[in-house]
Amino acid sequence: MTEKNLIKQFKNIYIEENSLSSNSAKRALQIFPKDRIHIIKDKSELKNLSNMNAEQFNESKKNLLLSSFKGKFFKRCPGVRPGLICCNYFVLNLGQHCEMDCSYCYLQNLINFPFVTIYTNIEDALNELTEISKEMKDQKLRIGTGEITDSLSLDDISLYSARLVDYFKEKPDWTLEFKTKSANIKNFVYKEHCGNIIVSWSLNPQHIIEKEEHNTANLKERLNAARLCRDKGFPVAFHLDPVIYHKEWKENYSDMIHKICTLFKPEEVSHISLGALRFQPEQRHLMRERFGMNSLITKGEYFKSSDGKLRYDSNLRQEMFRFIFSQFKDYHSKWNLFLCMENKENWMATANNIPSRIDHTKSLFDLKPVRLFSRVSS
Ligand code: SF4
Repeated sequence: MTEKNLIKQFKNIYIEENSLSSNSAKRALQIFPKDRIHIIKDKSELKNLSNMNAEQFNESKKNLLLSSFKGKFFKRCPGVRPGLICCNYFVLNLGQHCEMDCSYCYLQNLINFPFVTIYTNIEDALNELTEISKEMKDQKLRIGTGEITDSLSLDDISLYSARLVDYFKEKPDWTLEFKTKSANIKNFVYKEHCGNIIVSWSLNPQHIIEKEEHNTANLKERLNAARLCRDKGFPVAFHLDPVIYHKEWKENYSDMIHKICTLFKPEEVSHISLGALRFQPEQRHLMRERFGMNSLITKGEYFKSSDGKLRYDSNLRQEMFRFIFSQFKDYHSKWNLFLCMENKENWMATANNIPSRIDHTKSLFDLKPVRLFSRVSS
């Protein structure tokens, strides 16, 4: 988000006293008008709100909190579920909640603290990583910062991207992924790096962005940002996730794939993951309350899958995956495509194989680092 948009977005900025000397707090004090800033002793002064209604959830996106985090920053990706094929992926959480507003966002079922939060103590997070690296230095770890918040949209306040690029120069065997729906790359894109920062975009056709991904960068802005990252030597990746069924889905996804395949060569894109729309049944009423029945999400027909989430019928998922796979492969056989959080049956129906047996996905699904981490962290 630009400074102007940040000022438009956040009505209240809460800063914990012990975070005042952090770079993020200094930046927030520069950006926001004084009458919106509230200095608090501790975030425990602010109330949790479980089961937020539509109004409370909408309000939560207008409150920004800068506070230090006392727990563990580094975790295994929580996507792992019995019956699903999961990749070797870890997350580094440097904040929580998001000021953008996708109708399907899973945070609607997760957030019970009504503040978009930036953890101000990034140095503690990096010290935690340094400790882990002593035990796991020979492992090829893949780490992402965009699990419970967007990796880059608030970077003009947190200023974390530049610090992370520097830190990961010392960890050439590890890979860090910035995952975003913003086009906010300016704080790190001109920096020297050692090729292990993947910048990735969740992509959907412009029609879906306009209807369902409110307050995010448009498709053109995301792809242009990806081109600049590519030009500066950063590997880029795309997540076609969630793939959303709608009347003109073939035409719209085909058009977007054409754009990707004419702007990028397969060797410039580290991977492209595909995931069909899925969400917890408990968030359905909030989505209806917030986005009404005009949203493509609230209108859809879903079935409960083995992990408890609602998904499209398996045949429809397979049809969409097969269509998207074949569209990419028609442009070039070398696109590195894989399915995210899908079962063996859908892998077989789409790729006619499972990832641990496919050359270009084998390493992503090697679970050695995950097993070692479970041992060292227990
Ligand atoms: S950008 Fe991601 S985290 Fe933010 S609202 Fe959309 S889905 Fe949720």
